[in-house]
Amino acid sequence: MKIHEYQAKDILAKYGVAVPRGEMVTARDEAERVAKALFGSGAKAVVVKAQIHAGGRGKGGGVKVASGVDEAGLAAERMLGMRLVTHQTGPEGRIVSRVLIEEAMPIARELYLGIVLDRAAEKPVFMASAAGGMEIEEVAARDPNAILKQHVEPGLGLQPWQARRLAFGLGLRPEEVSGAVKFMAALYRAYDETDASLAEINPFITTTDGRLLALDAKINFDDNALFRHKELRDLRDISEEDPLEVEASKYGLNYIRLEGNIGCMVNGAGLAMATMDIIQYAGGRPANFLDVGGGASADQVAHAFEILLSDNSVRAIFINIFGGILRVDTLANGVVEAARKTNIQLPIVLRLEGTNVEKGREILQRSGLNFIVGLDMKDAAEKVVAAAERA
Ligand code: GDP
Ligand code: MN
Repeated sequence: MKIHEYQAKDILAKYGVAVPRGEMVTARDEAERVAKALFGSGAKAVVVKAQIHAGGRGKGGGVKVASGVDEAGLAAERMLGMRLVTHQTGPEGRIVSRVLIEEAMPIARELYLGIVLDRAAEKPVFMASAAGGMEIEEVAARDPNAILKQHVEPGLGLQPWQARRLAFGLGLRPEEVSGAVKFMAALYRAYDETDASLAEINPFITTTDGRLLALDAKINFDDNALFRHKELRDLRDISEEDPLEVEASKYGLNYIRLEGNIGCMVNGAGLAMATMDIIQYAGGRPANFLDVGGGASADQVAHAFEILLSDNSVRAIFINIFGGILRVDTLANGVVEAARKTNIQLPIVLRLEGTNVEKGREILQRSGLNFIVGLDMKDAAEKVVAAAERA
């Protein structure tokens, strides 16, 4: 689960990570009220920041510095309701409905700090780089040595010597190092205790008056741990998520939208991954990942089908089921029901095996609908790729 920058900063502040003063608002008059309060208590300038679940806002016009209350209000008014396009949003962009008004900082250096789970090492990795403020993926591709790493032993947490090593590696001045060590310890605790899958501060700044702050903040949570963090679940902003993915989650379906044109319905995550691979191997591109789960009901299958069909880029459908707990006849009933209900015109290629496969094939044949049956997985993949190309 992703959250907004202002929510991430609230969490970090509770753990003792320094962040600029500020408040999230949804209207111009509120923006002016917050800006006025900030100017009234010593701010030299304020920053108006669009709150969307995507980075690269600075380059896309989603971060504006204002030197007066009116200017801040105007910037907020322009930003609210705008469609912000960044390299992370895709061409369709995101509508901005919240902005963060914050005290502007006199930046000396823009650095990078990030923590993610390193699956290969089976422990979190704390990363730091002097090349902050820019895209870290680009830095990693161009010059991997520019990213310093410390793997953290989960039972021990981030050790002070590790934080010192990163701080010195960033070229921080001796008088900044102890502050940076405290900052990193607090950031690690926030990552660890919230069951985050990512905590990223880009940029982590030093100011001309000697402070260290998180100027930007991004936290993603491990969905599988959200059951033990009710207060974090409440931070979810469904309007930022893909509507089809939200719909799928209502029915307990694991659906992820992708960029291709072959809609996939598969049972089991492993088979779903293999299905995407074999489609690509046959020269096609999957439109989605969809695991209907081991024990899907006919109703869930029907919903899954409707979700697949709501994606306008889908040109052909590949149903790849190995009947285990989900029996093939149950699936066939769901597919036929959904195909009738939605009056589907797209070619459907099936590869069915497992429990009650004969019964399932019979249901499909008797339905009078036009299904293409694959002899095996490879044959079915080739048939669906060909069907998508014809369509
Ligand atoms: P992102 O582009 O979505 O990652 O948004 P960021 O919060 O990282 O802001 C992008 C850039 O705006 C930063 O790297 C800074 O250069 C600039 N910026 C943001 N806040 C301030 C501020 O308070 N003062 C100054 N001088 N620049 C800022
Ligand atoms: Mn940033």
